[in-house]
Amino acid sequence: MLTTPFRKKGVFRHEVAGRLPVYRFDQLSNDPHLAHAVFTRLGGISRPPFASLNLGHTVGDDPTAVQANHTRVYGALGIHGSQAVTCHMTHSADVLLVTAANKGQVAGQGDAMVTADAGVYLSMRFADCVPILLHDPQRKAIGLAHAGWRGTVKDVAGAAVRSMVNQLGCSAQAITAVIGPSIGRCCYQVGQDVIQAMEAVFPQETAQAAVEDQDGRLFSRRNGGYAYLDLWEANRRQLEAAGVGRVIVAGLCTACHADFFFSHRAERGRTGRFGVVLGYREQA
Ligand SMILES: [Zn+2]
Repeated sequence: MLTTPFRKKGVFRHEVAGRLPVYRFDQLSNDPHLAHAVFTRLGGISRPPFASLNLGHTVGDDPTAVQANHTRVYGALGIHGSQAVTCHMTHSADVLLVTAANKGQVAGQGDAMVTADAGVYLSMRFADCVPILLHDPQRKAIGLAHAGWRGTVKDVAGAAVRSMVNQLGCSAQAITAVIGPSIGRCCYQVGQDVIQAMEAVFPQETAQAAVEDQDGRLFSRRNGGYAYLDLWEANRRQLEAAGVGRVIVAGLCTACHADFFFSHRAERGRTGRFGVVLGYREQA
């Protein structure tokens, strides 16, 4: 197990919000009205294998504990669950346009949510899939996306950006995107089904031609029909293709740091979900 970094200069830092450890990103902290946090697995009440701040309702954990964990997470941001909006994630590229009318609700099925309404806190749950936080400080609009390999094949990150541009009036160039803690290429061995699906979307880049651990490549270390896939790089490229002005990659691997984050892969499917929340505070 690697020591989890507490700070990467200019990228993220570890803080305590309420009584909960969180990660926050420097590039999302310049706007004083924007609240955001990537929670960890620490500070909740769930028992193993969901210990302890599990936010997933569908992983087999005690619902009472999950509810108490949600209360802690929102309390740490100084908000209430009635201000949060979430969705049923299905590994799609469906984007939900969320408004103040959705507060306290499950907005529907989808893998990205976008809003320009203050006082609405987008909330999603992760355990290896890639969280993508989107922020347009000019339009004061935000987005949050969930990209596993299926969502990446469908370009959910690009779909979320296009929704902010087309439905909220954002300029893609003004948007900062943060690729949060999720499984890294170091730990993400994939088989032929995933390789073929990714090669169809990124035809220039084949696992066959991959060089071991070369930065900026989608695949590495192919042997015996397997490859290691870099979902951070794939999503970075899709965000840039969608015109996003700045893409920040946390570089925090959930499987390497399963002491801090839930990792579906590292824990063989028996684990919880950590939360990512962002929203504009309502101004008095
Ligand atoms: Zn790793």
